Amino acid sequence: MDSSQFFWTLRGMLYCLKNDFRLSIVTLLSGSAILGITPFAIMRFIDGNLLAGFIDLGILAALAGSLVYAWVTQDTYRSGIFLAIACCTGAVVVSVMVGEVGVFWLYPCLVTTFFLAPSRVAAVLNLVSVLAIVSVEATFTSQVQMWTFLASTTIVSACSYVFAMRNKEQRDRLEQLATIDPLTGVKNRRSMDQELDLAAANAERTGLPYALVILDIDHFKAINDEYGHGVGDTVLCDLVGLIAENTRRTDQLFRYGGEEFVVLFPGVDGKNLKTVVANLQQGLRKSLKGPGGPVTSSFGVAMLRHGESVASWLARADHALYRAKESGRDRVVYGDDF
Ligand code: GH3
Ligand code: MG
Ligand code: MG
Repeated sequence: MDSSQFFWTLRGMLYCLKNDFRLSIVTLLSGSAILGITPFAIMRFIDGNLLAGFIDLGILAALAGSLVYAWVTQDTYRSGIFLAIACCTGAVVVSVMVGEVGVFWLYPCLVTTFFLAPSRVAAVLNLVSVLAIVSVEATFTSQVQMWTFLASTTIVSACSYVFAMRNKEQRDRLEQLATIDPLTGVKNRRSMDQELDLAAANAERTGLPYALVILDIDHFKAINDEYGHGVGDTVLCDLVGLIAENTRRTDQLFRYGGEEFVVLFPGVDGKNLKTVVANLQQGLRKSLKGPGGPVTSSFGVAMLRHGESVASWLARADHALYRAKESGRDRVVYGDDF
């Protein structure tokens, strides 16, 4: 790997860390746990406490395994659950083996389970870990110690649960605000850019054909001017409902801007594309109506070419739409020869 490749890999990793919350938690937790536990593992081997040393090694292997798995597969759901289970199991085993001083390891685990795993899994995991430690009588030197442990772990778990839930709600809300068009409820241009990039990358990798349609309502300004903006808004929402009715669940719809929408068709090539777009056009033509009668639309269609950039793909569809408008509206124009 040369230095520029290394730089781009590093940039990609930083991007992932910034954008994938669970991946960042998995990385932070396993990274800091590996740093924290390694000296203890070394110390145990030096002291000749082989059993504890091997248990620490097992925990380190589980941490490193889930870290590598999360980065390689990007499956942070499974790696998060695995890491939560591994950490809690490790903390329980250490507590049972070394007694009271070992229970301190459980506290960071109780806090992070709610960020690593779904809340129910985390709650069960916390409960089972605490009960497992309490069930071994020899762990605590007195009843007071045990009850203090029970009360403090309950408080830590409850606070962590509330904080994690609130955090998730806010992230979901932000995600929605950033990606969904508030009027029509479909994905916005920002999501479109991401999805088109993904589609282009997938086409390159798997050879799956992709087509996109830019659709623009004809003389929409006149509807606004004659009947008001509210009526225009209703037409836009009706259009979205009709597009959903006349496309497959795997097709994706985005609001490109104003009264322009983009539909992304995965797995459709030249032969099927004409049928699919003709069906969409017929469906809209038949059912999209304003107070003044039927509302028509123009369509610019382009198939993603081998090695083509997303910008060029969109530009070809946009140019096709321009030609549809120029040649009289209410028609489909293709940016490709079939
Ligand atoms: P053409 O057939 O050439 O596409 O003409 P047009 O009137 O549809 O296109 P033009 O670009 O002239 O006008 C688009 C209008 O869409 C102007 C703008 O006010 C309106 N518009 C954009 N966003 C919204 C919206 O969210 N709601 C409403 N009601 N109108 C919108
Ligand atoms: Mg228009
Ligand atoms: Mg327009």
